[in-house]
Amino acid sequence: MTATVSPPDVASRMLGLAADLYPICRSITGDGVRETLARIAGEIPLDIHEVPTGTPVFDWTVPREWNIRAAWIADPSGRRVVDLENSSLHVVSYSTPVRRTMPLADLREHIFTIPDQPTRIPYRTSYYNESWGFCMSQDQLDALPDGDYEVCIDSSLEDGHLTYGEVLLEGEVEDEVLVSTHVCHPSLANDNLSGIAVATEAARALMAAPRRYSYRFLFLPVTIGAITWLARNEGHLGRIKHGLVLTGVGDPGRTTYKRSRRGDAEVDRAAIHVLEGSGAPYDVQEFFPYGYDERQYCSPGIDLPVGCLMRTPHGRYPEYHTSGDNLDFLSGDGLSDSLEKSLAICRVLDRNRTYLNLKPNCEPQLGKRGLYAAIGGDTDSQRSQLAMLWVLNLSDGAHSLLDIAERSGIAFDAIERIAGVLHEHDLLAPVPA
Ligand code: ZN
Repeated sequence: MTATVSPPDVASRMLGLAADLYPICRSITGDGVRETLARIAGEIPLDIHEVPTGTPVFDWTVPREWNIRAAWIADPSGRRVVDLENSSLHVVSYSTPVRRTMPLADLREHIFTIPDQPTRIPYRTSYYNESWGFCMSQDQLDALPDGDYEVCIDSSLEDGHLTYGEVLLEGEVEDEVLVSTHVCHPSLANDNLSGIAVATEAARALMAAPRRYSYRFLFLPVTIGAITWLARNEGHLGRIKHGLVLTGVGDPGRTTYKRSRRGDAEVDRAAIHVLEGSGAPYDVQEFFPYGYDERQYCSPGIDLPVGCLMRTPHGRYPEYHTSGDNLDFLSGDGLSDSLEKSLAICRVLDRNRTYLNLKPNCEPQLGKRGLYAAIGGDTDSQRSQLAMLWVLNLSDGAHSLLDIAERSGIAFDAIERIAGVLHEHDLLAPVPA
């Protein structure tokens, strides 16, 4: 697998996709998700699934579908002071329909602000508790005059479907790498659109590359979407050998990797090897049962080796779940870097294998096989020679190339390239997986 990307083009494509998706009022169900998936399907061959309301999924039930056509508040003079048209954050997600006139004092009970970030609109949901509400900036609320306000939420909450998107890129083997991202937040850029953009471009790059593993990309509403997918694919989970949740991958902060529940799964080691080799600062988090859909993939009965790649963790940047998480907050460099790292992790997983040294009694004579010439006489040749000795020494059938890369401190790509040379010269044989 040699998926590579051209950074400037791909960064502008990711930013363009995010800009197209930004205004859409998404939630965990409804036409906002459909519109989002239809746009992604214009980029990659996405299968779109519709699961009916009421379908039992483990301990949950697929909820009623929520759609919204309009939401606004008009002040005593009739001027619309809040309008969904201006920001999809203005309405609490899953708000029930309402049309009434009420005094400001009563309306305030249905208004959410962020007092310590008075210029920003918060993001609020009420999926499983029937209510309605609006979100606005504290400054705007403070400026509202007393009087009677007309409020309108033209929404529907009725039997329908939960919608998710899925792409399977078949490889040489049926064993799979799972890549999952959420599609349920309204106009929030890093916490949603970044994961969609990076996953879409990763799928595009992998489509164009030879692949040992099959790659499955999921675009799901958070929590209920992952639970629904897992419940519908329970018999299939044994094929998933590695997985990554992509979330919050577009801010300018450093990369963070959150380990799977297993803690030392191959994906955990591959991710940390890639981050260490990048030369840039990074953070590693131990698994904890909160966050994004790694919570579901790593629940005890599922326990898939799925880690989470992000940049600044959720809740640790002030823009998180506010109107500050907008397109200006997205960094083209951050998106590109996250994409490159995601693909590099996939590359390690795809190429990692175990070899057996066929001449294990003392060192084989490298010179007579022309191996010094094969690895070149450049300034890297000494490093290549050392890599060769490490590969020969540890290829006892019990150590993978990733084991060798970790122990030698030499980049996986170099170890893997040298193993290929040694294999060509009949000094190594692959151990069947
Ligand atoms: Zn979120």
